[in-house]
Amino acid sequence: MSKGRLIVFSAPSGCGKGTMLAEILKDEGFYLSVSATTRLPREGETDGVNYYFLTKEEFEQKISENRFFEYACYCGNYYGTLLSEVDDKLEEGKNVILEIEVQGAMKIRQLRPDALFVFVIPPSVRELERRLRKRGTETDEVIAKRVAAAVEELKYAPKYDYIIVNDALEDAVSDFRAVIKAESLRTEYAAEILDEVINNA
Ligand code: 5GP
Repeated sequence: MSKGRLIVFSAPSGCGKGTMLAEILKDEGFYLSVSATTRLPREGETDGVNYYFLTKEEFEQKISENRFFEYACYCGNYYGTLLSEVDDKLEEGKNVILEIEVQGAMKIRQLRPDALFVFVIPPSVRELERRLRKRGTETDEVIAKRVAAAVEELKYAPKYDYIIVNDALEDAVSDFRAVIKAESLRTEYAAEILDEVINNA
């Protein structure tokens, strides 16, 4: 069985990343890594499903035990990918998606240059703010913080391999599938089949 691909998927909050991922995960062969965080659960979020919700002390304990593949501080909370979420799943042949912000993504760029980096942007910052308000889960202060963070994050988009505009969900998901398809056809992944075809000529 061939190994899966590590996919770093970033988007400022309010870009519809969650809805996009829910669609993508309906396809076979993907695993969405469950991150750890110190932020409080939102309504409807479950520990171990959406995140591993940890206290600051628990998170820092795991940092000292080297249990993280990467971690970052975002809007005053820790977020991190646990090592246990990544390599086993890749070995199983799953494409592992890390839904992480840009600082973490840049660390993965160093650690795993073979990973695939996809950045989702909104059609405009105004639309992003509208979506955040519509979600109704955050206070005005948090929304303002997140919009400011989004503008900063957008500056990192050129460092990714692909940029997808999420205006209409269906189109954005179909663009993501097109990226995965094109990547699977890259020369480096075809070495085995190419050898076979040549050797049986
Ligand atoms: P939220 O609080 O909206 O769930 O997530 C806030 C930000 O943290 C999002 O940009 C999300 O991609 C990012 N994030 C979630 N998990 C991780 C992680 O494990 N590592 C890093 N670096 N960022 C993460």
